[in-house]
Amino acid sequence: MPQFSCPKCGAALAVDPGTQIAKCQFCGTVTYVDRSEALFYYLLPFTIDEVKARGIFKRWTAGPSMAKELEHGCKVTKIVKEFFPVFRFRRSVNKSEKVFVRPARGTTLPGMHNLEIPPGGEVIYDDKVSIGDAKQIDPDISIGSYIGEMPGNAIDQALVYFPIYEITYEFEGKSYDVVIDGSSGRVYSGPSPSRGSAQYMAVMGISFVLGLIGGYLACAVHVLFIVLAAGGLLAGRYMAQQVVTKKSAAVAGEAAGGSAAQAGEGASAADAQDAQSGAPSDAAQDAQTAENNAEPEVKQ
Ligand SMILES: [Zn+2]
Repeated sequence: MPQFSCPKCGAALAVDPGTQIAKCQFCGTVTYVDRSEALFYYLLPFTIDEVKARGIFKRWTAGPSMAKELEHGCKVTKIVKEFFPVFRFRRSVNKSEKVFVRPARGTTLPGMHNLEIPPGGEVIYDDKVSIGDAKQIDPDISIGSYIGEMPGNAIDQALVYFPIYEITYEFEGKSYDVVIDGSSGRVYSGPSPSRGSAQYMAVMGISFVLGLIGGYLACAVHVLFIVLAAGGLLAGRYMAQQVVTKKSAAVAGEAAGGSAAQAGEGASAADAQDAQSGAPSDAAQDAQTAENNAEPEVKQ
């Protein structure tokens, strides 16, 4: 049978097999006997009742970062008032006191790795303490499994039964867990339907699709614009040639008319023709000018 000593006075503890709670014969301290040692054994009482806890939950669902419909669209399917076991390590790290809280039971509940135990809020958990209508969850993790990761030197360590409300709720067909600290009212949440997930993704999804369509249209319109612009330019040039040809024909006997079949020369010919009216010599402008000039003539 392993030997345990009282964490307060150091006296040997007589621990009956099959029990984990022992009372010191000398100082009366009640301890929790882990497989590796005896621990101070505390309970942090509830200061928040279930009605208040539900109110805290409701306000949390209405928070600005939560999914818009969560407050009215979620359904609480389970609320359990329980004392969850945690180890509290008080350590001296670089001459200052640090407190670490770790779950004493395997859990996927949010927040159990960083609960805050208010200093002096706990009571010694002996047979005078009643847990009322709360459920007591027993430890299944040995304190020894955490000792190795703790910095500094031990001041003391304890098993603390921590008051929580475990709330399970459903929203849009999925189930979520939230823990409300029964002492401070703090809310601990794992993944939840926040605006950052469902709603946000829906909006972003639509934006993304619209963006794709927009981008496609922009490219398509752009390409179309280039085609139109190029087509317009070519058409302009063609018409300019027609005009030049006609004008050349009108101004009979000039050599320019004969060679106007080639676009480049046609444009040059147009330049020559338009020079009198002071038109700019840029080819595109010429084409445009020629087109404008050409139109009435084409219609004739
Ligand atoms: Zn003692």
